[in-house]
Amino acid sequence: MNPGRDTHGGTTPVQEKVRTLFGLLRDCVLCPRKCRVDRTAGERGFCGLAGEAMVSAALPHHGEEPVISGTGGAGTIFFSSCNLKCIFCQNYQISHIPGGRPLGTGALAKEMMVLEEKQCHNIEAVTATPHVPFLAAAVVHARMQGMALPVVYNCGGYENPEVVKLLEGSVDIYLPDFKYGDDENAHFFSGVRDYVTHAATAIAEMIRQVGDDIEVEGGIARRGIIIRHLVLPGHVENSLKVLALIERHFPLSVPLSIMSQYTPVPALTSGRVPGRRVTRKEYERVVNEAMDRGFEYLFVQDVDERHIAPDFGDDAPFHWN
Ligand code: SF4
Repeated sequence: MNPGRDTHGGTTPVQEKVRTLFGLLRDCVLCPRKCRVDRTAGERGFCGLAGEAMVSAALPHHGEEPVISGTGGAGTIFFSSCNLKCIFCQNYQISHIPGGRPLGTGALAKEMMVLEEKQCHNIEAVTATPHVPFLAAAVVHARMQGMALPVVYNCGGYENPEVVKLLEGSVDIYLPDFKYGDDENAHFFSGVRDYVTHAATAIAEMIRQVGDDIEVEGGIARRGIIIRHLVLPGHVENSLKVLALIERHFPLSVPLSIMSQYTPVPALTSGRVPGRRVTRKEYERVVNEAMDRGFEYLFVQDVDERHIAPDFGDDAPFHWN
């Protein structure tokens, strides 16, 4: 049954969750930073966002995992700002500042329906963590208008598990990062000292909702989870710790996407971030470790020297557009 509809005219469980999510904006704990600002009154916390959704771009995205992008592309909505703001972020133009277009629930739902009309395979919300009330409300709205695509929640892994619980019924596919194997790296790169426990707990809740696998029909994901990990140049040990953590907390059947796409961004070359792409030797060390540990479902990437960071100052931010 479409969770956005109630055939008896009442409020559905998903709509109740949306209402609870909007209530959290008044004392914001949408992410583990728990800034406790009243965003509905215009107060702003770490993410710099107030009481409306801000969208930086919405487009068919052909660079995700094959089961997410397929042939028609993911229907990707890049939300503005971020609750992590990693110092190496290749999307820094939109993640480090709260810019973009303000969109109400109806307008955001319309964006979803336009992406469906463009034959995208899903609606992929990128870094929607500080926007989840607006995302969930728009999903209800779009589904009531007939939108039938699965909803993908692509996030950095630094999630409030209590908030993730409220996404049950709104999200079909979770695409969380597991970025760091210890909180020293998390603090150095993302300024948080409690990443590991939040990522592990939030991902456990995601798996409770959608299972520990990815359901694929006709080559396209319909429901489930893929845990992503970006290998950082010079930080293979971090990746090995992440794999050990994932094995400790989750079944070996959980799909892993091991990513080689780290690209140094000239605007961020502060000397604190790796100034090169990952080497084949580094990447293969991590992939081999994953196979040795017995992970059953791996997505892997090529290793090359291309500059593949998007430019969100361009109308077509990615090279395939
Ligand atoms: S969503 Fe923004 S305001 Fe809310 S807790 Fe996170 S960083 Fe702070």
